[in-house]
Formats: sequence, C-alpha cells, structure tokens
Amino acid sequence: MELPLGKCLSGVDHAGSMTQVTAFAPGRVEILGNHTDYNGGVVLSAALQLGITATGRRLEDGEIRLSSSGVCHEGKIQRAAGLKKTGAWIDYPLGVAEMLALSGGEAGGFEACYESTLPAGAGLSSSAALEVATAVLLTRLYPFEISRMDLAKLCRRAENEFVGVNCGLLDQASSVFGKKDHLVYLDCRSESVDAVPFPPHLALLIINSGVKHALTGGEYNERREQCFEAARCMGVPALRDASSAQLEAAEMPELAKRRARHVVGENERVLLAIDALRSGRAEALGPLMSASHRSSVENFENSTPELDLLVSLATAQVGCLGARLTGGGFGGAIVALVEIGAAESVRVAVETSYAAQTTHKATGILCRAEDGALPAED
Ligand code: ADP
Ligand code: MG
Repeated sequence: MELPLGKCLSGVDHAGSMTQVTAFAPGRVEILGNHTDYNGGVVLSAALQLGITATGRRLEDGEIRLSSSGVCHEGKIQRAAGLKKTGAWIDYPLGVAEMLALSGGEAGGFEACYESTLPAGAGLSSSAALEVATAVLLTRLYPFEISRMDLAKLCRRAENEFVGVNCGLLDQASSVFGKKDHLVYLDCRSESVDAVPFPPHLALLIINSGVKHALTGGEYNERREQCFEAARCMGVPALRDASSAQLEAAEMPELAKRRARHVVGENERVLLAIDALRSGRAEALGPLMSASHRSSVENFENSTPELDLLVSLATAQVGCLGARLTGGGFGGAIVALVEIGAAESVRVAVETSYAAQTTHKATGILCRAEDGALPAED
C-alpha cells in the first residue's frame, strides 16, 4: 500500500515493523534581550503552547517524504541522490536530516507529516519549531545519542548553513529547553541555558501588528556592524563585555553609541529581570520590558509606528505591566506582560482600538510558558 502524501498512518505500518512516532516542538517568544545574541549577550524567552507536531515513520527504501497540512508543496526525495536545497519549506527538515547525518546519525529514509498551530513568519519561530520537531522525530526513528544543546545547535546549523538564514541560537534553544511555568535564560556566549520560575498569576500576551516590514539584510547587517564597531571602539571582544557606564564614557561615533546603548541596556535588563524573578518580584519585568521598547525606539530604531501603537495601547490598560516589540523588529509582534485575570480584557481593548486607528488587524494570543520539545526533568 502506497501512502498518499499529506496523510499520516496511525499505529503500525503495513509491514507491521515500524510504529509511528511523533514529536512536538513549540514556538517561542523573546521577552527581553533584543539583538543581544550576536553580541555574546543574554536573552530571556519562553516556549509557547503553540508549535509543530511531526508524525513519521522510517522508510526502508531510503526515500524522504515530507508533507505539511495546509501547505500544498510536498517533498519526495531519494536520500541516495544527496540532499540539496530546494528553496521551499522542505529545506528546513532536509537541512536537519543532513546535519544529523553529518554528525554521525543514521541517514535512513523517513516520512514526516507536520501539523502546526503556530503562525508562520510571525516572529514566533515556526522555522525553529519545524527543525526541532524534525530532529526529535529523527532521533526517535533512528535512535541517536545527542545532548539537548547539541540538538539545538544542530538545528541552528541546518537553518544557517542549509536554509541560509543567519539566526542565533535563541529560537532553537527555547524550543528545546522550554519548561512549563519557567522562562528560558540563554547565555549566548557560554551557550548555557537555565530555567527561571515564572509565577502563575502572570501571562504573556503576544499581539501581532499584521504588518511585516521585510527585514532587509541591509538593516540587520548594518545594526550588527554598528554594534561591532562600538565594541572595537571600547576595546572589548563584544558588547557583552561592556557596562552602560563604560559605554557612556567611551569615544565613538554617535550612531554606534546609540545602537550599543540598546544592546548593553538589554543585557543589563535581562540580568535585572532574572534577579527579580528569582526573588519573587516578577512584576518588575513589566517596566523593564517597557524600557526595552523605548530603547528600541530611541536607540536601535527597529520599531514601527504599528508596534509603537500596540505598545502604547497595551500599556494603557489596567492589568498590563509592560510591553515591548519582540524579535528582530521592523514589524511583527509585541509581547505584553499581563495579570492573567485581565488578559482577555487587555487583548480585546487593544485589538479594538488598533482596528479603529489603523487599517490593519491586530491578533492577540494569550500564552503561558510551556514545556519545550525536550524539557529537563526535575
Ligand atoms: P518564523 O520562524 O518567525 O515563523 P521564518 O521566516 O523564520 O519565520 O520561518 C517561516 C518559514 O518556516 C515558512 O516560510 C516555511 O518555510 C516554514 N514553515 C513554518 N511553519 C511551517 C509549516 N507548518 N509547514 C511547512 N513549513 C513551515
Ligand atoms: Mg524563524
């Protein structure tokens, strides 16, 4: 019996030899630590309840069959012919299969069908969820010993080297290491992850602006260069190594200083947030998030009028403790810290006012911190 693409079997396949397996990997939201990753800095994020589930089985003929519900394009590749970039979504799972094989995993055939609850391209890292779900699925189909951090790094390599997108480790690490009722604290220099408790009376309200300003390589690379220039002017390896006081005292071009002020400030805000969370003052995250957004506007210039409007609408609501743009910026979504009892009224109020003041539609999603694909055991 030939399986039609796009339909998954449940139970055991026709040969009775290989039970289907599944793997779930969540999306993530960046809470603080904007543009700190390529500056060797620190980031605070959460894994979401939304994500991608991969269901699959081994194919003994060496073929790779990939399908995703709601996506027309499907893939059918013979592994022996080599895995090459196609320019379509299947590059993400193919990249993971390739990187696993390069790391010594068994390069066998497989079928994978994906179901997603995560909006693609909304800054919630559906690409990392797709990669991590694939990697976990494959290590279950073809058992392979790999640490959780190595699995996250392998997925990032798939995106960097196979797909060709220059993302940092945050997306994959959050998707792997997320922990229910905890935030993920990632140190991008040491590549270590810690889970920090997130109290039950708070929630994260993600509101998409509905406007995607294409992040041209130009803007992103320009920001990176300005950060590196600021570090050079201070004689430090990366902005991670500079304090705000050191930065203000340093001689450098005004624009580089403003860019660096954002990144150095973000690193400091992440550390303040960790301290607040660990000492039972989680509400303190709210003002830190709002300060982060102001810094995006004034220093890094990676906000948009729509994101600014969403932040000002959200922070004007009772029960909203703070809000900021999340992810790269230049469009996409904001994240607001809200009291859980007020979350629904904040969402409705922001969506309604935004619709009245713009021609766009804002979509709010209420999230709590959830488990990643491979959460640590207590
Ligand atoms: P983000 O990671 O913020 O969602 P990206 O542009 O990095 O945005 O990744 C989005 C891409 O990931 C999509 O263009 C598509 O190629 C792939 N993708 C995401 N979700 C799915 C899905 N459910 N099925 C197939 N491909 C998907
Ligand atoms: Mg992505």
